[in-house]
Amino acid sequence: MSATSAEIAQIAEPQKVKVNLLGLSAEKLTQFFATIGEKPFRSTQVLKWIHQMGVDDFDEMTNLSKGLRERLKEVAEIVAPEVVSQQDSVDGTCKWLIRVEGGSCIEAVFIPEKDRGTLCISSQIGCSLDCSFCATGKQGFNRDLTAAEIIGQLWIAAKFFGSLGRKADRVVSNVVLMGMGEPLLNFDNVVDAMGLMLHDNAYGLSKRRVTLSTSGVVPMIDRLGDVSDVSLAISLHAPNDELRNELVPINKKYPIAMLLDSARRYLDKMPGNRRKITIEYTLMDQINDRNEHAHELAELLSDIPCKINLIPFNPFSGSDYRRVSNTTLNRFRDILHNAGHTATIRTTRGDDIDAACGQLAGTVNDKTRRSERYQRQSQERPVRFVN
Ligand code: SAH
Ligand code: SF4
Repeated sequence: MSATSAEIAQIAEPQKVKVNLLGLSAEKLTQFFATIGEKPFRSTQVLKWIHQMGVDDFDEMTNLSKGLRERLKEVAEIVAPEVVSQQDSVDGTCKWLIRVEGGSCIEAVFIPEKDRGTLCISSQIGCSLDCSFCATGKQGFNRDLTAAEIIGQLWIAAKFFGSLGRKADRVVSNVVLMGMGEPLLNFDNVVDAMGLMLHDNAYGLSKRRVTLSTSGVVPMIDRLGDVSDVSLAISLHAPNDELRNELVPINKKYPIAMLLDSARRYLDKMPGNRRKITIEYTLMDQINDRNEHAHELAELLSDIPCKINLIPFNPFSGSDYRRVSNTTLNRFRDILHNAGHTATIRTTRGDDIDAACGQLAGTVNDKTRRSERYQRQSQERPVRFVN
């Protein structure tokens, strides 16, 4: 478990729960050491052991006295979630199935590219938002991941590649919160975990290389802008409210105009040289892929510094949507280009191991019973598998 401030404060008391140091931000770790009567520099030492050396055994922390190590063993632990399996795609992508407390499994995916390695991590077990084209949404929702479970995915991957702490030959250079879940609905834990990704004594990633993707939880975009300036991606998928209401149900609460206003406010808080967001647009055959949609999108985004990332829909079992052709993708991109936008097509990676965008489903002990309803509905109609 990752600990709250209240739990950290209990440390001086007879121990009920061991604090999992893996998920503690640098500030919380300093606070933890203060409660056991230790100086702040212990936090730096232990952060480095955990996140740069991948150590989860206090006995290996050789610059701590034996007495302190014994004390730490009594009150604390370093526990990452458990890797159940690893699958490797023919294209080099690799996916970990990771069991978290309570028995559900989440997924994290590593995508190697020429000049970088991107780890796509999950923030919740399932998702409560139920976008119509997303496998995670169809799995229903179990709970938020703890900060330890979120940063644990990076810890696992970096340790696997043996590249913790060595900036020069770091394998995981980028992290995207684009796996299972809506990160802004698990705000505090996500912010703590991102703090560790950026912290020099932990992973030391650049803010440009940590991207949070949201379906549009407007008040939380504002809160994020107050505490962080990581890169922001907005899952738009439609150029008007009528269509977006169908695809992304949270649009009924926070329609496009409100969403784009919050994006503008986020941009205003960013330093000038980084003032750009990513707009994600998943293209589905005959749903949101017409020329008019592209023109409408270009117009909608005309005053927002952004790059548009076009994602071909990735099919999953039970979904009726179809992937668009490459011709359509190129045509859509060209319309955006001609209107002066930067638009790129996200190449599908790892779809042979169901690791592509929107295919992450894990095994969610669904508390919403949505997955049952979805399975029933998809059994009642012919299931189409689209290649
Ligand atoms: N909940 C957040 C982050 C996770 S989803 C969000 O919605 O932004 C990450 C990205 O994958 C989003 O842009 C999402 O819309 C996209 N996605 C979901 N299902 C998809 C599918 N089946 N094919 C392609 N992209 C998909
Ligand atoms: Fe949740 Fe994002 Fe999937 Fe929508 S697209 S259901 S917000 S994970």
